[in-house]
Amino acid sequence: MDGKEIAALIDELHGIHRALAELNYRIQRGRRAVAACGAAQKKAADALAARREEKQNLLLAAKEKERESDAAAQELERRRSQLDAAKSNREYESIQIQIESIAYKNDELAEAAFEALTVAEEFDVEVERAETALKEETERLEKTRATVAESEPKLAADVERTQARLRDAEGRLPRDWAGVYVRLIKDFGGEETFAPLTGEGYCGSCRRRLPVETVAKVCGGAALTCPACGRLLYMPVGFVLK
Ligand SMILES: [Zn+2]
Repeated sequence: MDGKEIAALIDELHGIHRALAELNYRIQRGRRAVAACGAAQKKAADALAARREEKQNLLLAAKEKERESDAAAQELERRRSQLDAAKSNREYESIQIQIESIAYKNDELAEAAFEALTVAEEFDVEVERAETALKEETERLEKTRATVAESEPKLAADVERTQARLRDAEGRLPRDWAGVYVRLIKDFGGEETFAPLTGEGYCGSCRRRLPVETVAKVCGGAALTCPACGRLLYMPVGFVLK
Protein backbone atom coordinates (compact mmCIF):
# COMPACT_ATOMS: atom_id res chain seq x y z
CA MET A 1 0.00 0.00 0.00
CA ASP A 2 1.44 3.37 -0.93
CA GLY A 3 0.97 6.63 0.98
CA LYS A 4 -2.09 7.65 -1.02
CA GLU A 5 -3.82 4.31 -0.61
CA ILE A 6 -3.19 4.15 3.12
CA ALA A 7 -4.35 7.77 3.47
CA ALA A 8 -7.59 6.94 1.66
CA LEU A 9 -8.16 3.90 3.91
CA ILE A 10 -7.57 5.83 7.15
CA ASP A 11 -9.82 8.60 5.84
CA GLU A 12 -12.47 5.95 5.17
CA LEU A 13 -12.03 4.50 8.68
CA HIS A 14 -12.33 7.97 10.20
CA GLY A 15 -15.54 8.51 8.22
CA ILE A 16 -16.97 5.17 9.38
CA HIS A 17 -16.17 5.95 13.03
CA ARG A 18 -17.74 9.39 12.61
CA ALA A 19 -20.88 7.79 11.14
CA LEU A 20 -21.02 5.30 14.05
CA ALA A 21 -20.66 8.12 16.59
CA GLU A 22 -23.45 10.06 14.88
CA LEU A 23 -25.74 6.99 14.83
CA ASN A 24 -25.06 6.23 18.49
CA TYR A 25 -25.64 9.88 19.35
CA ARG A 26 -29.01 9.77 17.62
CA ILE A 27 -29.98 6.56 19.44
CA GLN A 28 -28.96 8.06 22.79
CA ARG A 29 -30.73 11.33 22.01
CA GLY A 30 -33.98 9.42 21.34
CA ARG A 31 -33.68 7.51 24.61
CA ARG A 32 -32.87 10.69 26.52
CA ALA A 33 -35.92 12.39 24.98
CA VAL A 34 -38.16 9.52 26.14
CA ALA A 35 -36.62 9.64 29.63
CA ALA A 36 -37.06 13.43 29.82
CA CYS A 37 -40.69 13.21 28.68
CA GLY A 38 -41.28 10.39 31.18
CA ALA A 39 -39.89 12.52 34.00
CA ALA A 40 -42.00 15.51 32.95
CA GLN A 41 -45.10 13.32 32.79
CA LYS A 42 -44.44 11.89 36.24
CA LYS A 43 -43.99 15.41 37.59
CA ALA A 44 -47.31 16.45 36.06
CA ALA A 45 -49.01 13.35 37.51
CA ASP A 46 -47.59 14.13 40.97
CA ALA A 47 -48.73 17.74 40.66
CA LEU A 48 -52.26 16.63 39.76
CA ALA A 49 -52.37 14.20 42.70
CA ALA A 50 -51.26 17.04 44.99
CA ARG A 51 -53.91 19.42 43.57
CA ARG A 52 -56.63 16.76 44.02
CA GLU A 53 -55.54 16.20 47.61
CA GLU A 54 -55.63 19.95 48.25
CA LYS A 55 -59.11 20.09 46.79
CA GLN A 56 -60.19 17.20 49.04
CA ASN A 57 -58.77 19.00 52.09
CA LEU A 58 -60.58 22.19 51.15
CA LEU A 59 -63.85 20.27 50.81
CA LEU A 60 -63.30 18.63 54.19
CA ALA A 61 -62.59 22.02 55.74
CA ALA A 62 -65.76 23.42 54.15
CA LYS A 63 -67.78 20.44 55.48
CA GLU A 64 -66.39 21.04 58.96
CA LYS A 65 -67.42 24.71 58.80
CA GLU A 66 -70.86 23.64 57.62
CA ARG A 67 -71.20 21.26 60.56
CA GLU A 68 -70.20 24.04 62.99
CA SER A 69 -72.72 26.36 61.39
CA ASP A 70 -75.50 23.75 61.56
CA ALA A 71 -74.75 23.04 65.21
CA ALA A 72 -74.94 26.76 66.00
CA ALA A 73 -78.26 27.02 64.15
CA GLN A 74 -79.64 24.12 66.18
CA GLU A 75 -78.44 25.72 69.38
CA LEU A 76 -80.18 28.91 68.33
CA GLU A 77 -83.45 27.02 67.78
CA ARG A 78 -83.13 25.32 71.14
CA ARG A 79 -82.64 28.66 72.91
CA ARG A 80 -85.54 30.23 71.09
CA SER A 81 -87.84 27.43 72.22
CA GLN A 82 -86.65 28.07 75.78
CA LEU A 83 -87.95 31.64 75.55
CA ASP A 84 -91.57 30.50 75.71
CA ALA A 85 -90.85 28.44 78.81
CA ALA A 86 -89.20 31.34 80.66
CA LYS A 87 -90.61 31.63 84.16
CA SER A 88 -89.63 35.22 84.80
CA ASN A 89 -88.73 38.39 82.99
CA ARG A 90 -85.17 38.04 84.24
CA GLU A 91 -84.84 34.54 82.81
CA TYR A 92 -86.46 35.73 79.59
CA GLU A 93 -83.96 38.56 79.25
CA SER A 94 -81.03 36.28 80.09
CA ILE A 95 -82.06 33.82 77.37
CA GLN A 96 -82.63 36.71 74.97
CA ILE A 97 -79.02 37.91 75.53
CA GLN A 98 -77.71 34.40 74.92
CA ILE A 99 -79.78 34.15 71.74
CA GLU A 100 -78.33 37.40 70.42
CA SER A 101 -74.81 36.19 71.11
CA ILE A 102 -75.45 32.79 69.47
CA ALA A 103 -77.19 34.43 66.51
CA TYR A 104 -74.17 36.68 65.95
CA LYS A 105 -71.82 33.71 66.14
CA ASN A 106 -74.17 31.76 63.88
CA ASP A 107 -73.98 34.46 61.20
CA GLU A 108 -70.20 34.40 61.34
CA LEU A 109 -70.10 30.61 61.07
CA ALA A 110 -72.54 30.57 58.17
CA GLU A 111 -70.41 33.15 56.38
CA ALA A 112 -67.22 31.16 57.05
CA ALA A 113 -68.87 27.97 55.78
CA PHE A 114 -69.97 29.68 52.60
CA GLU A 115 -66.49 31.17 52.08
CA ALA A 116 -64.81 27.79 52.61
CA LEU A 117 -67.12 26.18 50.07
CA THR A 118 -66.41 28.96 47.57
CA VAL A 119 -62.66 28.53 48.01
CA ALA A 120 -63.03 24.77 47.48
CA GLU A 121 -65.12 25.27 44.34
CA GLU A 122 -62.79 27.87 42.90
CA PHE A 123 -59.90 25.46 43.38
CA ASP A 124 -61.40 23.34 40.56
CA VAL A 125 -59.59 25.66 38.15
CA GLU A 126 -56.26 24.55 39.63
CA VAL A 127 -57.24 20.89 39.37
CA GLU A 128 -58.34 21.34 35.75
CA ARG A 129 -55.10 23.12 34.91
CA ALA A 130 -53.12 20.22 36.39
CA GLU A 131 -55.28 17.74 34.45
CA THR A 132 -54.62 19.59 31.20
CA ALA A 133 -50.88 19.68 31.93
CA LEU A 134 -50.83 15.93 32.60
CA LYS A 135 -52.79 15.24 29.42
CA GLU A 136 -50.31 17.30 27.39
CA GLU A 137 -47.29 15.64 28.98
CA THR A 138 -48.81 12.19 28.42
CA GLU A 139 -49.46 12.96 24.75
CA ARG A 140 -45.92 14.29 24.38
CA LEU A 141 -44.49 11.16 25.99
CA GLU A 142 -46.56 8.85 23.77
CA LYS A 143 -45.59 10.79 20.65
CA THR A 144 -41.91 10.75 21.57
CA ARG A 145 -42.06 7.05 22.43
CA ALA A 146 -43.71 6.28 19.09
CA THR A 147 -41.13 8.34 17.15
CA VAL A 148 -38.23 6.66 18.95
CA ALA A 149 -39.78 3.19 18.60
CA GLU A 150 -40.04 3.81 14.87
CA SER A 151 -36.56 5.25 14.34
CA GLU A 152 -34.49 3.11 16.70
CA PRO A 153 -34.67 -0.17 14.75
CA LYS A 154 -33.64 1.72 11.59
CA LEU A 155 -30.74 3.32 13.44
CA ALA A 156 -29.76 -0.05 14.92
CA ALA A 157 -29.77 -1.56 11.42
CA ASP A 158 -27.61 1.34 10.22
CA VAL A 159 -25.21 0.68 13.11
CA GLU A 160 -24.94 -2.96 12.08
CA ARG A 161 -24.31 -2.07 8.44
CA THR A 162 -21.73 0.52 9.45
CA GLN A 163 -19.99 -1.95 11.77
CA ALA A 164 -19.77 -4.43 8.88
CA ARG A 165 -18.18 -1.67 6.78
CA LEU A 166 -15.78 -1.00 9.66
CA ARG A 167 -14.74 -4.64 9.93
CA ASP A 168 -14.16 -4.72 6.18
CA ALA A 169 -12.03 -1.54 6.21
CA GLU A 170 -10.09 -2.69 9.29
CA GLY A 171 -9.36 -5.96 7.52
CA ARG A 172 -7.61 -4.02 4.76
CA LEU A 173 -5.16 -2.28 7.14
CA PRO A 174 -1.49 -3.17 6.53
CA ARG A 175 0.16 -5.00 9.43
CA ASP A 176 2.28 -2.01 10.62
CA TRP A 177 -0.85 0.19 10.78
CA ALA A 178 -3.13 -2.39 12.33
CA GLY A 179 -1.19 -2.60 15.62
CA VAL A 180 -1.07 1.18 16.10
CA TYR A 181 -4.68 1.53 15.05
CA VAL A 182 -6.01 -1.10 17.48
CA ARG A 183 -4.05 0.40 20.39
CA LEU A 184 -5.21 3.96 19.63
CA ILE A 185 -8.83 2.98 19.11
CA LYS A 186 -8.71 1.39 22.56
CA ASP A 187 -7.14 4.53 24.09
CA PHE A 188 -9.25 7.21 22.41
CA GLY A 189 -12.37 5.37 21.34
CA GLY A 190 -13.83 5.71 17.85
CA GLU A 191 -13.62 8.95 15.92
CA GLU A 192 -11.53 10.62 18.64
CA THR A 193 -8.61 8.46 17.49
CA PHE A 194 -8.04 10.34 14.25
CA ALA A 195 -6.12 13.52 13.53
CA PRO A 196 -6.20 14.54 9.85
CA LEU A 197 -3.33 16.78 8.74
CA THR A 198 -4.26 20.34 7.84
CA GLY A 199 -2.85 21.98 4.71
CA GLU A 200 -0.71 24.22 6.96
CA GLY A 201 0.93 21.16 8.55
CA TYR A 202 -1.04 21.21 11.81
CA CYS A 203 -2.61 18.36 13.74
CA GLY A 204 -6.29 18.51 12.77
CA SER A 205 -7.32 17.50 16.27
CA CYS A 206 -5.25 19.55 18.73
CA ARG A 207 -4.18 22.23 16.18
CA ARG A 208 -0.50 21.96 17.15
CA ARG A 209 2.09 22.63 14.42
CA LEU A 210 3.80 19.39 13.42
CA PRO A 211 7.50 18.97 12.54
CA VAL A 212 8.04 19.13 8.77
CA GLU A 213 9.59 15.65 8.73
CA THR A 214 6.54 14.20 10.55
CA VAL A 215 4.23 15.67 7.92
CA ALA A 216 6.44 14.28 5.16
CA LYS A 217 6.50 10.79 6.74
CA VAL A 218 2.72 10.78 7.25
CA CYS A 219 2.25 11.82 3.60
CA GLY A 220 4.55 8.94 2.67
CA GLY A 221 2.27 6.46 4.43
CA ALA A 222 3.93 6.07 7.85
CA ALA A 223 1.79 5.23 10.89
CA LEU A 224 2.62 8.13 13.23
CA THR A 225 0.83 9.82 16.09
CA CYS A 226 0.68 13.53 16.94
CA PRO A 227 3.50 14.30 19.41
CA ALA A 228 1.14 16.62 21.31
CA CYS A 229 -2.22 14.80 21.54
CA GLY A 230 -1.17 11.27 20.58
CA ARG A 231 -3.84 10.77 17.94
CA LEU A 232 -3.31 8.92 14.67
CA LEU A 233 -2.11 11.33 11.99
CA TYR A 234 -3.22 10.81 8.41
CA MET A 235 -3.50 12.63 5.13
CA PRO A 236 -7.20 13.34 4.44
CA VAL A 237 -8.64 12.88 0.94
CA GLY A 238 -8.00 16.02 -1.13
CA PHE A 239 -5.10 17.04 1.11
CA VAL A 240 -2.78 19.70 -0.33
CA LEU A 241 0.20 20.94 1.67
CA LYS A 242 0.39 24.74 1.50
ZN1 LIG B 1 -2.58 16.54 17.93
